[in-house]
Amino acid sequence: MAAREAIDRLCAVVPDFPSPGIMFRDLTPVFSDASAFRTVVDAVAAPFAGSFDAVAGVEARGFLLAAAVAYATGTGVVTVRKAGKLPRAVLRESYDLEYGQASLEIHQSDLPAGARVLVLDDVLATGGTLVAACALLERAGAVVAGCGVVLELGDLGGRASLAGRHVAALETV
Ligand code: 5GP
Repeated sequence: MAAREAIDRLCAVVPDFPSPGIMFRDLTPVFSDASAFRTVVDAVAAPFAGSFDAVAGVEARGFLLAAAVAYATGTGVVTVRKAGKLPRAVLRESYDLEYGQASLEIHQSDLPAGARVLVLDDVLATGGTLVAACALLERAGAVVAGCGVVLELGDLGGRASLAGRHVAALETV
């Protein structure tokens, strides 16, 4: 089964979550299907083959993708977390969400300088989350190899906000 077919078949569309007017694309059924998960993990990393030394996952669903890709490609994994979760010295970026405002943090010293990092998340919407994640990684001395997502919400402008970066989505709606 191709990644796009799996996503189209299994992704659940949930109206009015987490707030009225939002059509939330729930990819957890894609992750819980063994065949679909393997297909999606392989496909999300494929455009970046050979170009990264580590994988960063954005809390929380990005963690699932990042850990699986890191294991499959023999690379390390780092977590880009919501504010207040990491125990050691952090870097922080605040950003606007499709619904609200948030901050992301990474440990200052989890990556060697110059590490090439693939950033993964489940959904690209306005792009605020991935812009912040990339900024954090670059402030920490890493090089962003690119951004991979399972699903891109094409009319929210996320790709434009990441202009100049290698961005790959398995499916666009
Ligand atoms: P952005 O910052 O690009 O506007 O939003 C992307 C972030 O919000 C991602 O971390 C993603 O998990 C979450 N997000 C926004 N909209 C959706 C959605 O419809 N479905 C899912 N699964 N996540 C979403």
